[in-house]
Amino acid sequence: MLVIGSGPGGQKAAIAAAKLGRRVAVVDRPDMLGGVSLHTGTIPSKTLREAVLYLTGLTQRDLYGQSYRLKDDITVADLTARTRHVVGREVDVVRSQLSRNQVAVYSGTGRFADPHTVALRDDVTGHERLLSAEHIVIATGTRPARPDSVEFDGRTIMDSDNVLSLERVPRSMVIVGAGVIGMEYASMFAALGSKVTVVEKRPAMLDLCDVEVVESLKYHLRDLAVTFRFGETVAAVERHPRGTLTVLESGKKIPADTVMYSAGRQGLTAGLDLDRAGLAADARGRITVDEHYRTEVPHIYAVGDVIGFPALAATSMEQGRAAAYHACGEPVGRMHNLQPIGIYTIPEISFVGRTEDQLTEDCVPFEAGIARYRELARGQIIGDSHGMLKLLVSPVDRTLLGVHCFGSGATELIHIGQSVMGCGGTVDYLVNAVFNYPTLAESYKVAALDATNRLRQLDHLAD
Ligand SMILES: Cc1cc2nc3c(=O)[nH]c(=O)nc-3n(C[C@H](O)[C@H](O)[C@H](O)COP(=O)(O)OP(=O)(O)OC[C@H]3O[C@@H](n4cnc5c(N)ncnc54)[C@H](O)[C@@H]3O)c2cc1C
Repeated sequence: MLVIGSGPGGQKAAIAAAKLGRRVAVVDRPDMLGGVSLHTGTIPSKTLREAVLYLTGLTQRDLYGQSYRLKDDITVADLTARTRHVVGREVDVVRSQLSRNQVAVYSGTGRFADPHTVALRDDVTGHERLLSAEHIVIATGTRPARPDSVEFDGRTIMDSDNVLSLERVPRSMVIVGAGVIGMEYASMFAALGSKVTVVEKRPAMLDLCDVEVVESLKYHLRDLAVTFRFGETVAAVERHPRGTLTVLESGKKIPADTVMYSAGRQGLTAGLDLDRAGLAADARGRITVDEHYRTEVPHIYAVGDVIGFPALAATSMEQGRAAAYHACGEPVGRMHNLQPIGIYTIPEISFVGRTEDQLTEDCVPFEAGIARYRELARGQIIGDSHGMLKLLVSPVDRTLLGVHCFGSGATELIHIGQSVMGCGGTVDYLVNAVFNYPTLAESYKVAALDATNRLRQLDHLAD
């Protein structure tokens, strides 16, 4: 098996095939072992967030006062020291996992020569070598989309990849696009003290999430001096000697040190010569696959961001494993449709299952049970008074229809709800369970009691 791209999808495909006894090679560009996920995406952004939380002392201010911070002048060097350390360690982990499993790693840029052969160009010497395989997995991921009308210089007018090489923490910043990546960086820079303006052409943001959670996030970000411009389109971005000027179609002008575009991502397929393999990509560079991640050419698979939604490291890994199992004739269970979503804004958001709006639209009745961190001993101990957990419960069979969490540990806590939902458990399991005390996990019990109290009221009326 030959895997093009060593991000989460490619890695897991390669290792799964190797474990099943196949001869496997992975190709990737120099210095990109581990993929976008490790070099410009998930890992550096989450490490940066952790550095921001630690150095600004933001999460401790409820306890020690609004002026509390670990370091007054936080520099880019303070922030990048941590990302460099983590990325370096993680590259080692990936390299050692691949080598332990006898997966050959070739450096260079691959393109199809024919349906079974990839021509790998050495990016330094320009020399090409041919690699052939019975099965090929395309895991080439994406790059940030850059509108043609904007002159990016990577320093003052940037995309999300350039954020990691900023020379200084900007005093002010415009973020175009209020998607997940845009809002994660808006949170981090706002926490660092940059004056952030978010411009989004849609009337709202993060519409995949619970409305109440998004409202809470907006409240918190406004508290950190973030300005939202919803329903606004950028007409032009100008570069001036002392900064940038973002001009909106409504006529508003926003001066800022830097502008960051976070306006979607483009599949990295343009240089792959897909036609030589009998394949094509859509206008956004994405490749279509079936439920086994097979492309139209049955021995070629595609996984990860290059196949589109949900475009997460978490799902890419599982797609890689599933594709390899299928290619090797190994039975593989269908990926559970209950996939958690984690959004590392400040505070963080996570959910699994449906939202109140989706249930209402589908005419599915539900009762909500809510636990607020300020009512939990652990919430008080860690100084998180705004966090909350919401369970959406079916009054018909008492199963969980959705779990929505906002605040410290949300992306970890959500897996309790995911497990209960995945195993078909009811809210009564959570009512009767004993949780460690004092923990945030206890929020499940509190929310379950809240939901069952409401359900009881309904039952009483019906009696
Ligand atoms: C800022 C940011 C934050 C994110 N945060 C999260 C998060 O918190 N949680 C989460 O789950 N996901 C997150 N994501 C998404 C996550 O990074 C992606 O879903 C994941 O990286 C996709 O993995 P992949 O397997 O498709 O490959 P990628 O990680 O995209 O890597 C693809 C690899 O293919 C290589 N490649 C491309 N073309 C060729 C070629 N022709 N020849 C050889 N090699 C090639 C590239 O060099 C690259 O190394 C984030 C993304 C970004 C940008």
